[in-house]
Amino acid sequence: MARERIVTANEAPEFDDQAGNALRPQRLEDYIGQRELVERLRIALEAVRERGEPMEHVLLHGPPGLGKTTLAHIIASEMGSRAYVTSGPALTKASDLVGMLTKLSAKDVLFIDEIHRLPAAVEEYIYPAMEDFKVDFTVDSGMHAKVVTLRLKPFTLIGATTRAGLLTQPLRSRFGIAHHLEFYEQPDLVSILVRAARHLSMRNASGEIFDAVAARARGTPRVALRLLRRVRDFAQVRAEGKLVASTVDAAMRLESVDALGLDDLDRKYLRTIRDVYEGGPVGLDAIAATMGDDSDTLEDLVEPYLLRMGFVARTRQGRKLTTAGGEYLASA
Ligand code: ADP
Repeated sequence: MARERIVTANEAPEFDDQAGNALRPQRLEDYIGQRELVERLRIALEAVRERGEPMEHVLLHGPPGLGKTTLAHIIASEMGSRAYVTSGPALTKASDLVGMLTKLSAKDVLFIDEIHRLPAAVEEYIYPAMEDFKVDFTVDSGMHAKVVTLRLKPFTLIGATTRAGLLTQPLRSRFGIAHHLEFYEQPDLVSILVRAARHLSMRNASGEIFDAVAARARGTPRVALRLLRRVRDFAQVRAEGKLVASTVDAAMRLESVDALGLDDLDRKYLRTIRDVYEGGPVGLDAIAATMGDDSDTLEDLVEPYLLRMGFVARTRQGRKLTTAGGEYLASA
C-alpha cells in the first residue's frame, strides 16, 4: 500500500506502542464491551482461583484490533501472573516454542497471536504441552535416539486468530473456552474514547467529538484510538486546540476517511467489484490481483467491516456488491 492506512485495524507500532500500552485496561472490570465473553471469563477465573488451578486455555477469534491481546494481559493480571506475547509466524522451530514454554512459571499466560500460522511441526509440540504440561522431544538419532520428557509448569495458553476456520481440529479442541469477538457498538466505542481522552489530556473535548470519532471507527477500538490521536494532533496544529465535531470532520477529510469510516482502499475494493466484475460474484483472488493488493490483507482488514455494513456479500460463487454497497458508491 502506498501509505499507512489510518483506519486499518492492524497494529502499527509507530502509532500504537507507547500510547496503546498506557491505554490498555488492566482489570476485567475496566474492559468495555464483549459482555458475554467477559462474563464467561469472569466465571472461569473465579472458579479456577478458588480451586488454585491455572486458568483454562482460551481461543479468541475475530478481526484484529478488537482487544484480544488486551484480554490476555488482563487474564494474567487477574491470575496474579505474567503474560508473554508471541505469534504463530515467530515460532518457526519447535525449539522456539519449547524455549518460551520453559520460561513460564505456574499460572503464567502464553499469548500466541495468529495461532493459525503456527507451522505444523511446531503445533505437534503444543498438544502435550496444553494437555499434560509436558513436551517430549527426541535427542540423538538412529540407534542412540531417545525421547526426553520435559515437565512444564501449569500455564495458560491464549490463542488469537482472525481465521478460526484455518485452525486444525486437534488444536481447536484443546481450548476450554473459545469465543468469537464481535465488532463494538457505538456506545461502547464512545466509552473507550472517553476513557482514553482522560489519559491523553484531552480534557476540553466536547462530547460530540467522541460520537464523530466512534462513528468512523469501524467497530474497532484500535481504529477509534488511532483516529482520536489524529484528531488531537489536528486540533492542536490547525484548529487552535478546539476539540469539536467540525475538527473531526476536517481531520478525517485530510485522511480520506468518510463519515462511515471507509477510506480509499475500501472504495477501491468496492469499485473493482462494480466496474471490473459487473458487481460480482467474483473470487477474492481475482479482486486482489486486479487491485494489486494481497488477498490476506483484503480478507482481514477490508472485508470484515464491509460485510458488517452489508456493502458486500460473500456467496459460494464469490463476492458480490449489494444494493446498499452500490448506493454507497453512487454517493461517495
Ligand atoms: P487485538 O489483539 O485484538 O488486535 P488489542 O488488544 O491490541 O487488539 O487492542 C487494540 C487497542 O484497543 C489497545 O490499545 C487496547 O487498549 C484497546 N482496546 C481493545 N479492546 C478494548 C476494550 N474492550 N476496552 C478498552 N480498550 C480496548
